[in-house]
This record gives sequence, structure tokens and C-alpha cells, in this order.
Amino acid sequence: MSKKSGQDFEPPKEAEKQVKNAWLFDVDGVITDPQEKKVLEEGLFEQIISRLEAGEPVAFNTGRDLGFVQEKVIDELLKRTDKKKLQNLFAVAEKGALWAAFGPDGREKESIDESISVPEEVKNRVRDLVKQKFSDCMFYDETKRTMISIEMNHNGDLEEFSVKREELLEDLKDIFQELGLDGRCIIDSTIISTDIQSVGVGKNLGATRFLEWLESRGITAEKFFCFGDSKSDLAMAEEIHRQGEDVEFVFIGDRKCVVGSRVGFEVICPEDRHGKGTLSFLKNNK
Ligand SMILES: [Mg+2]
Repeated sequence: MSKKSGQDFEPPKEAEKQVKNAWLFDVDGVITDPQEKKVLEEGLFEQIISRLEAGEPVAFNTGRDLGFVQEKVIDELLKRTDKKKLQNLFAVAEKGALWAAFGPDGREKESIDESISVPEEVKNRVRDLVKQKFSDCMFYDETKRTMISIEMNHNGDLEEFSVKREELLEDLKDIFQELGLDGRCIIDSTIISTDIQSVGVGKNLGATRFLEWLESRGITAEKFFCFGDSKSDLAMAEEIHRQGEDVEFVFIGDRKCVVGSRVGFEVICPEDRHGKGTLSFLKNNK
């Protein structure tokens, strides 16, 4: 299996415990606002805390770095609840390569899968490339540890970025060829970033980490709820379904993205999008 390092620790194993629901959230656009990059719906904290206090597991599953989740969400939860309650919380970052559980003291215990990290040599080459040729429009995100994100500069122009990105992709292709990365790494583009990640990471891997953590704690859930605002978030629910669990997917992005998706579980689209949609669903489904 994969090599793990960092502050691994044994989570408290409970006697087999069954809970009614388990909750798995994408972060950006689901909990935090996609533009303002923070939680705008104060009620979300209350909803998450009520579930943690009831002993229900809550997890975040993001492509962002762990620091983002910590600062924007977990630190805010800590201001509002007893730190012991965080033992029911789990966080997956960087598309499944990095994850964290929390001890009774509220401190984060982090694990990283080194075997699926993008090699240092690639990071160095891409960092230099972006600095020398594309710094007027994008930057190399130094907060990522296992993958590479080249993001549009703050307040950048989307159109300019998309033109420059074509040029960047050509240069990345050359680097991939030179370093023999095809089959090991892939490029994943979003509106505001270009990611280079190892083959195998993704929202499905994050969902697997969550299931493994639950198993290690002896917790089973009657039902799982997954929340996302991008089509790629569907992979969370697909993975949980594939592993034989009862799951519902709550989609709070542009519903055109999921219309017609053939999946073996229920997909619910609340009227409101982003944090508002998440909040209204949680209020109505205790
Ligand atoms: Mg999102």
C-alpha cells in the first residue's frame, strides 16, 4: 500500500457504533463562497456543529490545501464549539493526497501519501517556467504540497488567463515528455487554475479516505450525504455508492452540469446555489 508519513496517530476506536447520517462536503462553493473565499452563511457553522455534537461524522473533501480548510472553516468551528467535538470531524485536501483527523485536544493530526505526490523535479521545473514566462498573469501556488496548482493572479483577467493558459499547456506538454510523466501525472484545468496531479487522486480518493477513517473508528452510517458544486464532485457519491453504501448527492452548482447524469443514487438540486443551498438543505434534513 501507499507510504504515509507525518503525524500518524491512532484515532480513538469506538465500540461498533452506528449513526444515522454521515456528511461529506466539498468546500469551495459549497461551504465557502467561490468569490469571497470564506463562509458567508453563518448558519452553516451551527448546522455542522449540531451534527458533530450529535456524534455524526462530518468530512470535508477539497482540492485546496489543508491550510485553507483549517483557516476558513475549522478554526471558525473551534471558536463555536468544544474542541473535543472535532473528533467527529475529518478533512481531506489536495484531492485525497493529504488528510487530517483531530485529537481530543482539538489538534490536527495530519497524514500525507508521499507515493502520490508530484515529483520535486517537476515542481521545480514548473515553478521556474511560471516565474520566467507567465508571472504577469498567473502564479505557482506554494501552499500545495503534493500537487501543483498554477493559479490566475488575484484580480486577473479571465480572458487573458485562458489565452495564456494555452501557451502554458504547450510548455507543460514539453516538460511532461522530457521527464516521462505521461501515465504518472495528469493536467486538470479549472476556470482559474491549471493543476498537475498524480494519476489516481480525485474526489473519489477523498471519499475513500473518509470511509477508511470511519472504519478505523468502528463507525457505520445508515446513510451518506455528499455535497458538491462541480461535476467532478459526483465522484464522491459514486465512490461511496460503489462501496455499497446508501448515498444521496446534493448538487448546489449549475444544475445543467448534472442533468442527465446516469447514477445509481438520488441527486438533489436545492433551489439556491453555493452556501445558501447547502444551508437550506441542512436545515430541512436534520
Ligand atoms: Mg467546489
